[in-house]
Amino acid sequence: MPNPIRKIGVIGAGTMGAGIAAHIANAGIPVVLLDIVPDGANNRNVLAEAAIAKLRKAEPAAFMHDRAAALIEPGNLEDDLGKLGDCDWIVEAVLERADIKQALYRKLEGVRRPGTAISSNTSTIALKVLTEGMSDDFRRDFLITHFFNPPRYMRLLEIVTGPDTATATVEAVTQCADIALGKTIVRCEDSPGFIANRLGIYWLQLALIEAIDQGLTVEDADAVIGRPMGIPKTGVFGLMDLVGIDLGPQVNASMRHVLPKSDAFHAIDRDVPLISRMIEQGLTGRKGKGGFYRLDRSGGRRAMLAIDLHSGQYRPEQKPSLPELSADLRVLLSAPGKIGTYAFRVLAQTIAYAATLIPEAAGSVADVDAAMRLGYAWTWGPFELADKLGSAWLAEQLTARGMTVPKLLADAAGKTFYRVEAGVRQRLAPDGTYRDIVRTPGILLLEDIKRAAKPLLRNGSAALWDIGDGVVCLEFTGKSNALDDKVLEVLGQSIELVRTQYKAMVIYNEGSNFSLGANLGLALFAANIAAWGEIEKMIAAGQQTYKALKYAPFPVVAAPAGMALGGGCEIVLHADAVQAHAETYLGLVECGVGLIPGWGGCGEMLARWRAEPKLPRGPMPAPAKVFETISTADVSKSAHQAMDKKFLRPTDGISMNRDRLLADAKRRALSLVEGYVPPKPPEFVVPGASGRAGLNAAAEGFHRRGIATDHDLIVADALAEVLSGGDTDIIDTITEQKILDLERKAFMRLVRTEPTLARIEYTLDTGKPLRN
Ligand code: NAD
Repeated sequence: MPNPIRKIGVIGAGTMGAGIAAHIANAGIPVVLLDIVPDGANNRNVLAEAAIAKLRKAEPAAFMHDRAAALIEPGNLEDDLGKLGDCDWIVEAVLERADIKQALYRKLEGVRRPGTAISSNTSTIALKVLTEGMSDDFRRDFLITHFFNPPRYMRLLEIVTGPDTATATVEAVTQCADIALGKTIVRCEDSPGFIANRLGIYWLQLALIEAIDQGLTVEDADAVIGRPMGIPKTGVFGLMDLVGIDLGPQVNASMRHVLPKSDAFHAIDRDVPLISRMIEQGLTGRKGKGGFYRLDRSGGRRAMLAIDLHSGQYRPEQKPSLPELSADLRVLLSAPGKIGTYAFRVLAQTIAYAATLIPEAAGSVADVDAAMRLGYAWTWGPFELADKLGSAWLAEQLTARGMTVPKLLADAAGKTFYRVEAGVRQRLAPDGTYRDIVRTPGILLLEDIKRAAKPLLRNGSAALWDIGDGVVCLEFTGKSNALDDKVLEVLGQSIELVRTQYKAMVIYNEGSNFSLGANLGLALFAANIAAWGEIEKMIAAGQQTYKALKYAPFPVVAAPAGMALGGGCEIVLHADAVQAHAETYLGLVECGVGLIPGWGGCGEMLARWRAEPKLPRGPMPAPAKVFETISTADVSKSAHQAMDKKFLRPTDGISMNRDRLLADAKRRALSLVEGYVPPKPPEFVVPGASGRAGLNAAAEGFHRRGIATDHDLIVADALAEVLSGGDTDIIDTITEQKILDLERKAFMRLVRTEPTLARIEYTLDTGKPLRN
């Protein structure tokens, strides 16, 4: 179905409106961004224009590509309402006041085309309040679309509709938000705070007051709430620092007003004097002078401080040492002493509160869990956590400690909230029956396939799955999806299998990163025992397997998401086509650890730049471009940017929705099957020794300016040698195999040097590069 939404208006160019406009532009959809004319302003568009200027510099980046900014047309609400006339959807993101929002809606009534959807980004005002007294036409086209901040990166979109909202309006907005903007939509009831914030605000307040009451330090509280519960390591205090400490009392006040008296929130809602003092002193978190944590730069040192929750004084941060922390949640929650008590009181009451939100705020446990995973980056939602603990145990413990057990939780005793039946994941409904969790059409997840089938091939580092219609999916399964000989082994066997029994291959996985590259730990181990032959064998095997993939008699589509670095980037370069998630970060980063790409990355990049018509002719421009990209370990910050850097081709596809990536990649692979002919091996015109000297001159310039180290020069020269075609001293034409041989030789020379081994060891230990 074609996207019926071709142009969007966004009103309010504040934090959310601007971020939403940027993300709409990321999707390639033109957007009009309007705000008020400030009193006495010379430039009547100043608010929208300033917002766009700020978006360009936002960190993390709001735009996926500089070009997106041009799709936003700035304007103001006095002169430019007419520009909304040809919009198919108008998103309102103005001040959180019902009277202001309604006054604006009345203005829109005069200008919008009949049928144009209007949605509010309100976080707390009910739809029934916003539509009060509005016309029937307005009610038919109105809904709430609640984006999370920052709109580019937060995948959750909560949608609330009213009894009068037209199905066609909801479908058009949903489709645009899902496919074009890449959001996962969770439908919510028209209740205060919807789902994620309703539970999130309760959880944060509870974790704050319990930490004070139980006498925990902020570091200990964050350590308990973080990793063991699958919550980002910012825990609770780190999260408050991130979102702004001044926000807490504001959101609590608004929940206090809108929640019914019977709501459990009121029992934990109290003013915390420390928070008021911190706000008065400008200690509002990272945006202010510090928060619960603060970086001390006084006296030329950099030390992290943390606040004492009782005295309010800063003291040096203390790394938690908590033997109670356990991978087994029940063990942690049962631990004697304040740590166990804290863990129990926060988690058990959060789960209990979540259970009271159904059906008032959410239709199902799956909706609550999805909202918390996507809106708060929890690994598991509250009901998935309840399954880990056991509902019966949880209910028993709550009772034993004199706390209320909500009906949904009591009814679940002896059951789990989720189960797998005949390979399909099901959720427990409030009536006690299990219902299949049904995916939206167009969404295909490996997670679901794996639940229902056995792999065609598998070892400790990779697996091959039948994903239907003659297509297989190669999955990396090792730590950080690192690549090693076992991945190459499955890859080699897969090529044989597909050749005889299938039509096409997709390379895809559902890790947070596609692959961080080759397993450096193995390389370092081999180097430490001087097993140079083993290392060279591994390089040769990677080169051969990647080329076998490239020249296989069937189409291969790589579908990366997240980071695809080093060898993970090289496998993408060897695919016939790529379907990348919009948030894909590709790069050949080997130079950072004192190496060069060894699995064909140099030649593939050279061939791409050679084919670039905009580059001047001659043997030098292409190697110079590749040299620049690889020697600086340049990584693209989005799939769109990867096209400029030639990690992706202009013909490659980009999926905005992470959950649609596999289906999109499979469709692309199938589209290539008929009449498929493998690519022809390229030949390279190389500039030889004079070219190598030219490339080195560039690196020496950086060295003189103190940007490049001595060892950087050695690494750069090895790269220059490969890209210039080795020791030919005249312009020459060489084969792909010759480039591979040069690559391997240069790699082996570098891996034997002390500074390279020091870099590898340091990066393995710290995750950071060593600038030696
Ligand atoms: P903000 O204060 O950054 O921006 C509000 C914008 O509204 C400003 O640009 C302001 O000029 C404009 N405005 C003020 N008075 C107006 C009027 N009379 N008519 C039209 N525009 C007017 O606020 P924000 O954080 O972007 O929030 C906007 C909406 O999004 C609110 O409803 C808020 O509840 C909701 N929301 C915020 C977040 C968040 O994290 N900040 C998240 C989700 C939803």
